[in-house]
Amino acid sequence: MKKILVTGGAGFIGSNLVKYLIDKKKCNVMVIDKLTYASSLESLKLLKNIKNFSFKKIDICKEFELEKIFKEFKPEYIMHLAAESHVDNSIKNSRNFVQTNVMGTYNLLNISLKYWHSLDKKYSNKFRFLHVSTDEVYGSLKLKDKLFTEKNPYLPNSPYSASKAGSDHLVRSWNKTYNFPSIITNCSNNYGPFQHPEKFIPVVIINALKKRKIPIYGNGFQIRDWIHVDDHVEALYKTLVNGRLGETYNIGSNKEIRNIDLAITICGLIDQIKKNDMYSHSDLITYVEDRKGHDFRYALNSKKIKKELQWAPKVKFSEGLKKTVMWYNKNHLWIDHFNNKKKKFIK
Ligand code: NAD
Repeated sequence: MKKILVTGGAGFIGSNLVKYLIDKKKCNVMVIDKLTYASSLESLKLLKNIKNFSFKKIDICKEFELEKIFKEFKPEYIMHLAAESHVDNSIKNSRNFVQTNVMGTYNLLNISLKYWHSLDKKYSNKFRFLHVSTDEVYGSLKLKDKLFTEKNPYLPNSPYSASKAGSDHLVRSWNKTYNFPSIITNCSNNYGPFQHPEKFIPVVIINALKKRKIPIYGNGFQIRDWIHVDDHVEALYKTLVNGRLGETYNIGSNKEIRNIDLAITICGLIDQIKKNDMYSHSDLITYVEDRKGHDFRYALNSKKIKKELQWAPKVKFSEGLKKTVMWYNKNHLWIDHFNNKKKKFIK
């Protein structure tokens, strides 16, 4: 049974990943998470009484507490997802982003290195550190540009992507300098259940369901490549177990769509669910002032992970999106608990 320490496991991708690791891969998982506003213990509720799952409220910037967890849990693998992740927030207040994404990662790397050095050969040979990052570090593409490969230079444009780029560089340098067994993944935009209500797809779904205006930045022509979170977590596991140390892997799904077209598609799905609403939900779409420094297009070339690790996305976008809309329509309690700021399991 693999012993995996997951940072940020109470967030969107982390909570989906942890369920996958426990249900599908029978791993022993400890989640550490600061439980910021973006987290939800509700998302981990189903695991509450599972023997091979444990949770500790820890800020990755706190050295002493983090070190204690390493000594207690003795992980074989680290999957690092903890981060401040919302671009809009990074524009308003960048400090937390530098603190957690750069300094927190630095702290985690330092402690992991010390821990790795302390292990017997048998265990140190097996140890791996997976750093989960984003396509946004590569900057923005024009319409006719080729997809980003792992060889593209880093050109981050927002405080969020700059802080993630900084963390990627630290991880890379720990590998090159100390031979630390790390791997980096850069993934495109995720969607699926348990994503915080502040992110694009949940905003469109929830506002449409609640008959509120649906804000669209600028003209809505920005393009994103959307991947279902189930496909992402599978790619993360494959990379953790079989990826080459010191390498970077792009994870994308080649499902590019303009924001405005995505919003209209979601509204069409909600028209089918809310047949009694005698109007088209796309009438709720409202254009608002564009985000500062808004990247036009992200899209990834994922040939490397497909070839080396035999990974390919499985979830068809139309089906994944429909299921996601249905999930938000059914899970009002989960959505509402963010407003109440309850950070405990609902009984
Ligand atoms: P999220 O905001 O939903 O979750 C982040 C989690 O990290 C939260 O539970 C939060 O409490 C925790 N956290 C924040 N600061 C912390 C700290 N100092 N110490 C411990 N825990 C802390 O984010 P997400 O969408 O699940 O993203 C997870 C990771 O994947 C991030 O590193 C993000 O950059 C990366 N990523 C996300 C996407 C995406 O589309 N969501 C795409 C590519 C990469």
